[in-house]
Amino acid sequence: MNNVLNKIDSMNNLVELHMHLDGAISINNAKKLASLQGINLPSDEEVIKLMQVSKDCHDLNEFLTKFDFPLSLMQTKESIILAVKNLSDELVSQGIMYAEIRFAPQLHTNKGLTQEEVINAAIEGMKLSNLKSNLILCTMRGAANDKNIETVRLAKKYLGKGVVAIDLAGAEGLYKTSEHKYIFDLAKELNVPYTIHAGEADGPSSVDSAISFGTKRIGHGVRSSEDISIVNEIKNKDITLEVCPTSNICTSIYNKVGKMPIKLFMDNDINITINTDDPSICNTSLKEELKKVASAFNLSYQDILKFEENAVNASFADDETKKELLNKIRN
Ligand SMILES: [Zn+2]
Repeated sequence: MNNVLNKIDSMNNLVELHMHLDGAISINNAKKLASLQGINLPSDEEVIKLMQVSKDCHDLNEFLTKFDFPLSLMQTKESIILAVKNLSDELVSQGIMYAEIRFAPQLHTNKGLTQEEVINAAIEGMKLSNLKSNLILCTMRGAANDKNIETVRLAKKYLGKGVVAIDLAGAEGLYKTSEHKYIFDLAKELNVPYTIHAGEADGPSSVDSAISFGTKRIGHGVRSSEDISIVNEIKNKDITLEVCPTSNICTSIYNKVGKMPIKLFMDNDINITINTDDPSICNTSLKEELKKVASAFNLSYQDILKFEENAVNASFADDETKKELLNKIRN
């Protein structure tokens, strides 16, 4: 096992498909964003408290409060550019060769930016880094329909210009996936690709709704394991799951990684990928996530490479990029 863990440590061909910008702002990045805007931050210890869940956090409400502070630092064009650039540079240093970074434009409009200005700033930040990456625009559960529709239309406008897809994020337990059909009807009509958070806070019926919308990717999807017929459906429709281990521990879906249905998915030939979701809030990295999964299920290095190949295949990158990324994994 140590051999596998050492190999993971030295990987520089990793693919991250499920990472939220507001959950991925490191302490250093936060400091730079604060300094840019003349905001005085408390001590490092206090900043960590504001941004990270406590070690024993198993509380969804505590988890959700951790997005407020990083979001408050990303309400201007300059701060969004810098946040995305800094995050992208950090990902390169962590061995990531391709990332799809997601955020909800409507959550960055508190100081008067339009959703379109937010998207343009994020694209600009992405271009300032060497990281190969694309953006996924999140629509939000419980938000006004017109705001979500605006996000889908803007995704269409910027498709292939830095944006590759939309997502549905937010409190799945409170706002059912089935209530958001209008978002994916429009995305389908406009040919905008999508992934959908489902089967995280809510059970298999949420995954069933996501599948009925025609999704090829599901964020989390782990609770599909509670209904084997849904697992079979995922298999038959060749859907990829974006599994985020530590995040599921932080929100109390499982009490340890070993309790996750990862082996069940692997045994049923489900395409699974491993991701961080909110690396700063959960104090993790993609390598840490892979190591946790490898240890919990006694996986081989080949299993890890398979996760990375699955990620490339399910990514929203163009075919040429996918080919290049697959080559890097295989060599
Ligand atoms: Zn997520």
